[in-house]
Amino acid sequence: MRPIQMVDTKSQYLKIKTEVDAALQEVLDSAAYINGKAVQDFTTALNTYTGAGYTIPCANGTDALQIAMMALDLQPGDEVITPSFTYIATTEVVALLRLKPVFVEVDPKTFCIDPEAVRKAITPKTKAIVPVHLYGQAAPMEAIMAIAEEHGLYVIEDNAQAIGCDYTFSDGTKKKTGTIGTIGTTSFYPSKNLGAYGDGGAIFTNDETLAAKIRMIANHGQKERYYHEVVGCNSRLDSMQAAILNVKLKRLDEYSAARQAVADHYNKSFADNDRIITPHVAAYTNHVYHQYTLVLEGVDRDGLNKYLAEQKIPSMIYYPVPGHKQRMFASFGLPELELKHTDWLTARVISLPVHTEMDTEQLNYIAEHVLTYINQ
Ligand SMILES: *Cc1c(COP(=O)(O)O)cnc(C)c1O
Repeated sequence: MRPIQMVDTKSQYLKIKTEVDAALQEVLDSAAYINGKAVQDFTTALNTYTGAGYTIPCANGTDALQIAMMALDLQPGDEVITPSFTYIATTEVVALLRLKPVFVEVDPKTFCIDPEAVRKAITPKTKAIVPVHLYGQAAPMEAIMAIAEEHGLYVIEDNAQAIGCDYTFSDGTKKKTGTIGTIGTTSFYPSKNLGAYGDGGAIFTNDETLAAKIRMIANHGQKERYYHEVVGCNSRLDSMQAAILNVKLKRLDEYSAARQAVADHYNKSFADNDRIITPHVAAYTNHVYHQYTLVLEGVDRDGLNKYLAEQKIPSMIYYPVPGHKQRMFASFGLPELELKHTDWLTARVISLPVHTEMDTEQLNYIAEHVLTYINQ
């Protein structure tokens, strides 16, 4: 059996090597390492793929979130509602910009932000909501957008884990996640569903004025060279990463399908086991399985993690400490905050390997060992 990895970017690369190598050679030959043709080509292709109004590439998914918040002119002390159960980048940038993170609950079934919890957390200082499409499944955007509209709030979708995911509205229209809110952001970190071979990110919006502002902020606050209108930053996608992403974007749907097939296999293997809760996919979305995450009931989760490691099966706890319990937020007086569902999930989730290069032998081996441990 081939060794099992959490992600296997090497095997995936070998299948597209000829095309990737040629694309990289083209960048080398052009010597346009920054803002080259590859960056423009990829930005256009990604914009077409997602159906976003405007796409602005940037250096990584964390920058994308930061730039999004800068573009909305949020002021120190403004409140930003986000789930606590997410990767730290989502909430870190809120604090970095001296805004106040307001952590709310997730739905324990979908792991995504709970609209009712959002509604309850709104105060006169609330300016924005940041739903996260966690593990590759869309947050309940229709409900979030309705609340935002009702209260005049911005919505920034953190789409770092769900590029390619579809959201279906109650009237039947479909949109890609990341293109529904005021602004959407994503990451091309190598292990993400659309991963570069280095860092990268992008920002989406349907608002032309906002798009121009985002572009300006990501480029030292300038529209015209050396005339700086606002305080910005330096956040660029480089040409080599764009060239690689261009090759991979064409295969994104195929990659999503491969991840979904892995999830189907696991789902079948773990069906009807009352200690394993397999991922619940909400009716309004598909799931592109950035992670395949189980919730375990009455099982020593960390024991399973260790047992699997002994069988040479990697597994991960995403995330062992929720945002509201991170020391970096101590000054926000959050330890008293009680988020029952978040704490419940944090103690019970475990993510199994899911990527585009897994074979049946590996999947059977993983499922067999998970069940051996759980049924012991
Ligand atoms: C990966 C990730 C980010 C940050 O992306 P980087 O490119 O690593 O900066 C932000 N939010 C979520 C939910 C992520 O998973």
